[in-house]
Amino acid sequence: MAGSVRVVLLGPPGAGKGTQAKWLQERFEACQVSTGDILRKAVAEQTPLGKQAAAYINRGALVPDSLIVDLVAERLKEKDCDKGFVLDGFPRTISQAESLEEILKKMGLALDCVLSVQVPHRVIVERLAGRRTCKGCGALYHLTLDPPSKEGVCDRCGGELYQRDDDREETITARLKVYEAQTAPLVNYYRERGMLREIDGVGKVNEIRSRVLQALGDRGT
Ligand code: AMP
Repeated sequence: MAGSVRVVLLGPPGAGKGTQAKWLQERFEACQVSTGDILRKAVAEQTPLGKQAAAYINRGALVPDSLIVDLVAERLKEKDCDKGFVLDGFPRTISQAESLEEILKKMGLALDCVLSVQVPHRVIVERLAGRRTCKGCGALYHLTLDPPSKEGVCDRCGGELYQRDDDREETITARLKVYEAQTAPLVNYYRERGMLREIDGVGKVNEIRSRVLQALGDRGT
C-alpha cells in the first residue's frame, strides 16, 4: 500500500524534477502538478492564459505570480489531488511559496517536505539541450542519456517527440539566470523552516529515485 505524499520538487531547469515527479505520481498515486505543463497546454490551445503566458515562456522569464497562483489553487482542489500531490515547477518565487502556504492552510493541509534536487551547471545544459518531450503523453527522453527505441517516436504512446522552444541554448542561459535570481532563494526559505531535504540529482534515474525515497523516509515501502 502506498502512503500519501504532499511535496514540492525544487531545483533548476534540467534537474530532473519532471522525471522524478512522474514517477512519484505513479508510486504514491499522487497527482503531478506541473505549472510548466499546464502553461504549455494553455499556449498550445491558445486559451486566454496561454496567450498571456507565451511571451514570458519564450524568453525564459517567469510568468507573473498573479497568473499562476489561482491556477495552482484550483488544480489542488481537484479530486485526483485528494491522495496527495507532487508540485513540479511551483513555487518559483518567495511570494509563490507564501501563497502556497495560504492555499494549503485554507484546505487544512501542509507540505510533508520540499525536495531540493541539486545538479551542477554543466550537467543542466547537457540535459536540457538533449531533452525531447512527447507531444502525446508528455514522457521525457534524452537524445544520448535516455533515447527512445525509435528516433523521434515515444516508446509509451507512439507520439511525436519534440524539443521545447525554451530548451534551445539561448533560452537555457536566460532560464538559469532567472532560477538563480528568483527561485534559488527558496532553498534557504525552506531550509529555515526545517522543510528542506537535499538530493544529489546527478546519476542514473534509478539512483536518484532511491535517494528521493530515502529523503521521504521510505514511506509506503
Ligand atoms: P518548466 O516546464 O517548469 O521549466 O516551466 C517552463 C516555463 O513556464 C518557465 O520558464 C516559466 O516561463 C513558466 N513557468 C512555469 N512554472 C512557473 C511558475 N511557478 N511561475 C512562473 N512561471 C512559471
